[in-house]
Amino acid sequence: MDKFLIKNGMLWNGNGFSKKDVLFEGKHVTKIDDNIEADTLRKFDASGLIVMPGLIDIHMHMRNVSIDAFGTDVSAGCFPNGVTCAVDASAVSGDKEFLDTFAVKNAVFVSPTFNNGNYNFDNFEQYNKSYGDKLLGFKLFYDGDNFDGVTPLKEVCAFAKDKGLKVMVHTNNSPVSMMDIAKTLNSGDIITHAFHGGRNNAAEDNFECLKFAREKGIVIDTGFAGHVHTDFTVLKKAMDAKFYPDTISSDLTRASAFIRFGRYGLNYCMSIMRTLGMPEEEIFLSVTKNAAKAVGKENDWGTLEIGSTAVTVLGLSNEPYSITDKMGKTVSDNKSYRTYLTVVNGDAVYSY
Ligand SMILES: [Zn+2]
Repeated sequence: MDKFLIKNGMLWNGNGFSKKDVLFEGKHVTKIDDNIEADTLRKFDASGLIVMPGLIDIHMHMRNVSIDAFGTDVSAGCFPNGVTCAVDASAVSGDKEFLDTFAVKNAVFVSPTFNNGNYNFDNFEQYNKSYGDKLLGFKLFYDGDNFDGVTPLKEVCAFAKDKGLKVMVHTNNSPVSMMDIAKTLNSGDIITHAFHGGRNNAAEDNFECLKFAREKGIVIDTGFAGHVHTDFTVLKKAMDAKFYPDTISSDLTRASAFIRFGRYGLNYCMSIMRTLGMPEEEIFLSVTKNAAKAVGKENDWGTLEIGSTAVTVLGLSNEPYSITDKMGKTVSDNKSYRTYLTVVNGDAVYSY
């Protein structure tokens, strides 16, 4: 059986660091130990680097799954960022069979049809059939003035709860307050773009709305979208108050990736959070265990143990970055996270 050995790295698996080697045999991790020797040419020296579970991006847009204007190549968007599990946050095409061809483990949110101020679920049975167990729930673009307060949101939440599904809500420029959204969502639902700076943003009540949401079991997700759906002044305020998101996600699209020459992705988002003061282990949790839990995959995604199929080797590099939000506020640093190796099913699918 083909072997792949990762030597000398610092293993992080949700709780502290320890120096360990990791061995893949075939598609799976078969050994994690202090000093593993293996007769293979496929070795990676992870000295000075962090060996961790394959990362999870719970909000991105995949080519031939989301609409064409958004959909980005899955492997090109994920592997250089150490992402081995991802969620499409507004799937309209492809089906379970097609999604199964991706080396990135995946799941989807779909959108109910919106007509004359109301959601209807005419397309639900069709989506349910085509995506099968990959369907996590509904993504709502709760943006603009075509909504009668929280009523349409309430209806989707009730429908989703009845079906055992989740609701992920786009909150930038929402017509209702973040507190109203928090009061309407059910436990397990997700607020994305939680740190936007548009009307009804979370800084307006000093993040009480997001604290209330968290108490209820609602997931607080960044959904960066490059410089578009996160206001760095709002985000910095939250970090200063030590209010950290549960999950960091990229909202990666063709636009956000390509205007940054392909460099934008989950690692970029993690770097922004680090620069603004989120502690490193909180960052790591938000893209592994927390993210897995947020999408109900805690038994399969975001862990590194015997039997796992993915590993990411990450480090803090001396490559500077700089990003300016819509309001003109810039976040920059002379250090950034970089993926040095991504292994999926025992194969190195990316290395720096
Ligand atoms: Zn999105």
